[in-house]
Amino acid sequence: MSILIKNIISVLNARFSGHEKEGVVSSVSIDSRSLQNSDSTLFFAIVGPNNDAHSYIKDLIEKGVSNFVVSHIPEECANSANFLVVNDTLVALQQFAGYYRSFFDFPVIGLTGSNGKTIVKEWLNFLLSPDFNVIRSPKSYNSQVGVPLSVIAINEKHNLGIFEAGISTVAEMVKLEQIIKPTIGVLTSIGSSHDEGFVSLKQKINEKLLLFKDCEVLIYQKDVLVDSCIASDIKTFSWSYNDKSANVVVTKKNTLNGLTTVSYQYKEQSFELSIPFQDKASIENAISCLLVLLYFNYDFETIQSRMALLFPVEMRLKVKNGINNCSIIDDSYSSDFQSLKIALDFLESQKQFSKKTLILSDIFQSGLAIEDLYSRVAQLVVSNNITRVIGIGTTISAFKDSFVNCTTFDTTADFIANFETLDFSNETILIKGARSFQFEEIVYLLEEKTHETVLEINLNAISYNLNFFKSKLAPKVKMMVMVKAFGYGNGGLEIAKLLEYHKVDYLGVAFADEGISLKNGGIKLPIMVLNPENTSFAAIIQHKLEPEIYCLKGLYAFLKIAKKKNLQHFPIHIKVDTGMHRLGFEENSLDELIAALKGESTVKVQSILSHLATSDDLEHLGFALKQIQLFEKLSSKIIKELDINPIRHILNTSGISNFPDAQYNMVRLGIGLYGVSNDPAEQQFLENVGTLKSVISQTRTIGAGESVGYGRKFVADRPTKVATIPIGYADGISRGWGNGLGFVIIKDKKAKIIGSICMDMLMVDVTEIDCTEGDSVIIFGEKPTVSFIAKKLNTIPYEVLTSISQRVKRVFYR
Ligand SMILES: *Cc1c(COP(=O)(O)O)cnc(C)c1O
Repeated sequence: MSILIKNIISVLNARFSGHEKEGVVSSVSIDSRSLQNSDSTLFFAIVGPNNDAHSYIKDLIEKGVSNFVVSHIPEECANSANFLVVNDTLVALQQFAGYYRSFFDFPVIGLTGSNGKTIVKEWLNFLLSPDFNVIRSPKSYNSQVGVPLSVIAINEKHNLGIFEAGISTVAEMVKLEQIIKPTIGVLTSIGSSHDEGFVSLKQKINEKLLLFKDCEVLIYQKDVLVDSCIASDIKTFSWSYNDKSANVVVTKKNTLNGLTTVSYQYKEQSFELSIPFQDKASIENAISCLLVLLYFNYDFETIQSRMALLFPVEMRLKVKNGINNCSIIDDSYSSDFQSLKIALDFLESQKQFSKKTLILSDIFQSGLAIEDLYSRVAQLVVSNNITRVIGIGTTISAFKDSFVNCTTFDTTADFIANFETLDFSNETILIKGARSFQFEEIVYLLEEKTHETVLEINLNAISYNLNFFKSKLAPKVKMMVMVKAFGYGNGGLEIAKLLEYHKVDYLGVAFADEGISLKNGGIKLPIMVLNPENTSFAAIIQHKLEPEIYCLKGLYAFLKIAKKKNLQHFPIHIKVDTGMHRLGFEENSLDELIAALKGESTVKVQSILSHLATSDDLEHLGFALKQIQLFEKLSSKIIKELDINPIRHILNTSGISNFPDAQYNMVRLGIGLYGVSNDPAEQQFLENVGTLKSVISQTRTIGAGESVGYGRKFVADRPTKVATIPIGYADGISRGWGNGLGFVIIKDKKAKIIGSICMDMLMVDVTEIDCTEGDSVIIFGEKPTVSFIAKKLNTIPYEVLTSISQRVKRVFYR
């Protein structure tokens, strides 16, 4: 890309403030973390519901970025860069993408539908890429932001585009149509219900069809309702199972060993095709692809041979624990230039180790000449501070000299043969390869081998929940997030990093050690330590943690050390007891507290806090209100007599929901971040964060009268199929959950836990479930939820979450 700033100003109808209208923009970014941002990047400061990228502009200018599209110029940045000021930066991004799209004139497939868009897109890319230089939306970039970013990635060498569009309400598709400008439309499965955001199914269909208004053809599955919505001037190319008026009529023949055979009638001929899937959705997605191939006039043999190779689509970037304390980012299913950029940005956002290794296969389908391609890859590697590159494949091997510190192998097998010599430790490894290189074997080698139980943490869900609670705050109210107890069992450092990115104001931990490991992991956010022991004060000071001071003894001890170290204005947090009766100054000790702090410059009262005992239980509403009243009184007294202006805070998660008038200057979010609410009505607005998974180790069938496990607590009354799962009470599964009370989910079905839960294993009844060794098992997640289990066990979700032992490996994904 190479576009004059002055042309962009006129396209966006922007007001310009800066020096360099004659400058040229060569890339576009909305991600402040990306190391790919450079002096010729145009940064669009997108304002999300709770995250405003304008606040990153100052940092970006320091990093050398000089062109910004903004809705206002941040005060501290005036005159220090080029600013294109517009009303709405998202609209501007879309306008820019539409403008950029107009430079290209090649067939573009536009996909929409309720389900299957991403899969059909990936499959079409696979099916068509032997003959075209395809540009497609990366991952599932199909939103108001994702679509413009996808289109902006087009380059001169592409000659076919495949873009997906997703909408959640009316009026959105018109904008996406303007950007994608598809020439061939594909409507994937439309679903039978209308979603939130639409008044009826018909409205939803009509809205989706707007994507196709200027297409030369619309490819879809014939359906009475859809037909009634399609404008008469649109040419269609349709398929159906039973409507003989469709262009292609499909009959399902049989299913065997994961293969489904269908026959189809097209132009008065009949063909038989086998599709490597069994489920209904995959078959229909495959038929959508078939129609596109027929529309492109592919012959039967080509269609059959390519479709036989269709594969399950893995869209997630997964972070896994690796051997020797490495961290692995597994993107072993694709290699194209655009997704490499995304994966590198993801790598950067992890910030786990300064040492970074990229294992990369030959890159396909970039559209670029290979010299150009590998020189661009080499640039990316440099700008992302990659420490070493391991290239696999004959093409990348030929370009070995383009990279610094690069080792290459012709094949994955060569790499594996030399694995021992490569020395992986204390680094982040991004594994990125085209499917044909079978990098899953490399992932397998590098993955830490513990037992097969993992707690999967959905980082997007955490962001989502954070924003949900942020949206409840009055303007200027700060957010402290509690990451004590290893992030409520979900992983401390990774979550802290995400929170730092989201610019929360404070983190809270229970003990100094927890804070120290966050600081050692690179966290810069201020961290309050709720329960500092006097013996940890020196370490707290050394690591710039901020202690909560809750008694005079602690205050004097802290002052003594702080004075010895000649500290000035070291931040401390004063906890007052308003009724919880756990930690805190009581009313009768305030005078002495005030006397001790008066004129004391060693420390600074950064905040005053208290904690509610009953914020989740409106039966005790009166008690909570009394606590808030007392907090008002005690904190006001300290503030007045010391003449200070500290942050005040008293609300935890349930407090945020139930006492909006008591937000003061900050709130302390805990369990809600992890997707759990004490209020069932609120629960439905939160996203599930953690899924505890395992696998079946062994299955067997026992006869009636035989027993299972220690103490023969379960005796079968019929022939029973038993599966053993390698997770037990040492992993944090309460023994109370055994003996028929609890269950796990296997293949979407409940499997009752039978007998007593053992230390490392439990057994379930799978008589009614078609399952076998190695099949995946869900212990909690979307179903059953942690809250559900807690209720059955007569405890609270906090305990269930934080009980999961550290030997259970955490896997983070987006
Ligand atoms: C744990 C904790 C919180 C957060 O509580 P949640 O109910 O998880 O939101 C807030 N404040 C203090 C003092 C805490 O100990």
